Amino acid sequence: VRTMASEVERAQAAAAQADSGAPTIFDKIISKEIPAQVIYEDEEALAFRDINPQGPVHFLVIPKVRNGLTQLSKAKEEHKPLLGHLLYVAAQVAKQEGLSQGYRVVVNDGPNGCQSVYHLHLHIIGGRQMNWPPG
Ligand code: C5P
Repeated sequence: VRTMASEVERAQAAAAQADSGAPTIFDKIISKEIPAQVIYEDEEALAFRDINPQGPVHFLVIPKVRNGLTQLSKAKEEHKPLLGHLLYVAAQVAKQEGLSQGYRVVVNDGPNGCQSVYHLHLHIIGGRQMNWPPG
């Protein structure tokens, strides 16, 4: 089990490489170089199960083309339709996953947000009672 401290350390280490534009692990998932449990795919978006699930259901929704969207705070006007599409996909896949009682949608941004992969992604977590505030 990962400790909270190591999550924060990983996020801080990842931030150091955030702007390198280097391919991320998600590029390899998109290109099928590394396997993932894909549960939804269209021309713009991919949804797959998180390998370290934080609930009975935990999947990620990512844009297939990063196009500068390493993180939410890099969003530009031109990204608005894609950002809307990703949220819509999140809702449709949550329905497909049977999350009729609700779920949590999270975007971690930057070191303070504990982001560890610099390819924009929405976390959708459900199947249990979530709490607030988050850690
Ligand atoms: O928001 P953050 O950048 O921390 O989230 C990255 C997520 O990507 C983590 O929840 C991690 O478990 C997940 N991941 C994955 N498959 C990989 C690498 C990371 O699902 N191969």
